[in-house]
Amino acid sequence: MARSARDWLELIRRLDLPQRVRIMNVCGGHERSITMAGLRAALPSRIELIPGPGCPVCICPEEDIYEAIQLGLHGEVTLVAFGDMLRVPVNVPKGEIRSLSQAQAAGADVRPIASPMEALAIARAHPEREVVFFAAGFETTTAPVAALLAQGTPDNLSILLSGRRTWPAVAMLLDAEAPGFDALVAPGHVATVMGPEEWEFVPRDHGIPAAVAGFTPESLLAATYSTLRQLLDGRAFLDNCYPELVRPEGNPSARALLKRVMEVVDANWRGVGVIPASGYRLKPKRAAQDARRRFPPTSRQGHRRVGEMPPGCDCARVVLGKIYPNECRLYGKPCTPRSPIGPCMVSDEGACRIWWAGGVRIAEVS
Ligand code: SF4
Repeated sequence: MARSARDWLELIRRLDLPQRVRIMNVCGGHERSITMAGLRAALPSRIELIPGPGCPVCICPEEDIYEAIQLGLHGEVTLVAFGDMLRVPVNVPKGEIRSLSQAQAAGADVRPIASPMEALAIARAHPEREVVFFAAGFETTTAPVAALLAQGTPDNLSILLSGRRTWPAVAMLLDAEAPGFDALVAPGHVATVMGPEEWEFVPRDHGIPAAVAGFTPESLLAATYSTLRQLLDGRAFLDNCYPELVRPEGNPSARALLKRVMEVVDANWRGVGVIPASGYRLKPKRAAQDARRRFPPTSRQGHRRVGEMPPGCDCARVVLGKIYPNECRLYGKPCTPRSPIGPCMVSDEGACRIWWAGGVRIAEVS
């Protein structure tokens, strides 16, 4: 019989942990479930659950958002993007348009969408317009974008791609002198597409316990228990605690589509820097569908950057799990979901926004 969250908690509480254990997750969905279910407070105080690089909106490079804004301001273009992206601010001098929402307010044709198929529908409904889909996301977003491109798109639809791969960011952390965590809960959704095998390097190359988790408290606690048990037994391996959906090799068709239309490149993560082999770009033969090639004069025109992050914003350290959201000195005052300063307070997958929505306030001990 499947264990309940209560059962898993009981098993975890019975473990004799000699020291503090830090377990990182790399998925905004995981972080939301952990926070909303109150798992941190329910676990023994020696166990720290650390939100890591799990929010694609938070790490989307400033230059890509800036480029999307400029394209949106291009009179012939209808710019469509996932809703979260619209409010993400870029750091530009005062008086300049700093988000897609502001571009929209200034008269640009910027529209929020919920899926790549909506971009297709808008392009078909408006053949007289150039429609640019600003596609920012991890593998779970880039795979449907690849499917859209592979099936063929109308001539007036192009993609401004800002796709990222999750595991290279974890590899970068593990290659650093002080990774900052002792075990990893690997992202379930990404593993359904790319396969759990992508995460085998964590125990194999670094001796760090890892477990793929789903999004229920039961699955997250099962993964937590698995990694703790591995630590206590001195035996690191990759456990699959989401077997209902995560199968060996993931979704081979989706991976084949990704390979068909995109290639892996070194890519910039906002506030973090360039991470080797962590991004996607469209293959050269897809030039007609690539907004970067279709609109070269608009890109980066007049872009006067004044820094990657707004002054005082600690998003980069939050994303890397170096600090908790409420350790940023702007958290809650003045940065809130109503008036976000950094991207982590904008996105539903951003740790700052999740913590704020979960009722975590400034002085609380995490
Ligand atoms: S609280 Fe706001 S300013 Fe601070 S890290 Fe989070 S998003 Fe950035």
